[in-house]
Amino acid sequence: MGFANRVLNLQAEGAYAVLARAQELEAQGREILHLEIGQPDFQTFPHISKRGIQAIRDGQTRYNPPGGLSALREAIAADAGLRRGIEFSPTQVVVGPGAKPGLFFPTLALIEPGDEVIYPDPGFPTYAAMIEIAGGTPVPVPLVEENNFSFDLQAFEERLSKRTKLIILNSPANPTGGVMPLTDLEYIADAAQAHNCWVISDEIYARLIYDKRPAPSIISLPGMKERTILVDGFSKTYAMTGWRLGFGIMPEALAERVELLLTHSVGCTATFTQVAGIEALRGDQEVVDQVTVEYQRRRNRIIAGLNAIPGVRCQLPAGAFYAFPNIKSFGLSSHQMAARLLDEGGVAVLAGTDFGPGGEGYLRLCYATSLEIIDRALARMAAFLGSL
Ligand code: PLP
Repeated sequence: MGFANRVLNLQAEGAYAVLARAQELEAQGREILHLEIGQPDFQTFPHISKRGIQAIRDGQTRYNPPGGLSALREAIAADAGLRRGIEFSPTQVVVGPGAKPGLFFPTLALIEPGDEVIYPDPGFPTYAAMIEIAGGTPVPVPLVEENNFSFDLQAFEERLSKRTKLIILNSPANPTGGVMPLTDLEYIADAAQAHNCWVISDEIYARLIYDKRPAPSIISLPGMKERTILVDGFSKTYAMTGWRLGFGIMPEALAERVELLLTHSVGCTATFTQVAGIEALRGDQEVVDQVTVEYQRRRNRIIAGLNAIPGVRCQLPAGAFYAFPNIKSFGLSSHQMAARLLDEGGVAVLAGTDFGPGGEGYLRLCYATSLEIIDRALARMAAFLGSL
């Protein structure tokens, strides 16, 4: 029995393969330091968990509208609008189980076979997967290290065509931590309007930014609200990866289509999870700021440590919680390096190529872990790389 073409090229996310190998080594008695999985090491903030538990106790465990509870949609529209200096209506908000549905369903709703979709390389692996499932043609645009991993705008210009239907942006970015400067966003916004394309702006790391430098959003630029799908969620900001809660904000007509896709796939998002989400948005935000200060300390430590290793060069990321060091001087592929670092060095990291061919020569390290583990991982990396 054969499978449909649309699933034949699908690959697991690299992090899961590395985690499986790390667990195999741990079962043999090895101690592995984990810098591979991209999630906060903090527990969900207690006031949010408490509200979710209370909601279960109160019986908020039944179906709810496919697009989300109206109170949550209102809270999201108000919060997201305030942070980006524009107004959103709750009817533009579609809630889903995680940010991923906010990426996937608008893509399904917009892309016809043959349509081209521009996306960052290296980039979050779901982009290429969802473009292919939708029948579109993935058109990767390289990110430039010297440019803090923003788009190579010349390559972007060359890749735009009559068939370009959608441009995917991710700032602050996974896996590089790069933040796209306003001038690049303005350039892309002009191009999107000239070519009449949609833009998905994945801003899941928007709150995790450092040195008090804001990450601008393309949706705030003139003429962009009508053609942009803003994707964000609760996973990273509020340490809620397992609750599964995210959203997309988009023009109302598209929101209606996406809501229908949710209706006929996931049905709706767990009610008590959404109640916890309202608490996250309306409750104390100081805890998010405190956590961000802690991530910044970890960032400074890991980037300084990486740059102190002979042969390694690493940009200072402006957001998210990833370091993306350049390891080209060692002459190993990213995959070889990641595999040997794990097997011989006892440090689990991802190969840059787990995020696309543009990641060759880089590793991705997630520093959402304790300073102690970061220091020990750096010492092991220095020893291993020094032995090559
Ligand atoms: N977008 C990016 C860039 C991510 O890194 C992730 C998760 O790692 C997601 C989206 C998915 O977020 P969620 O777990 O809320 O679906």
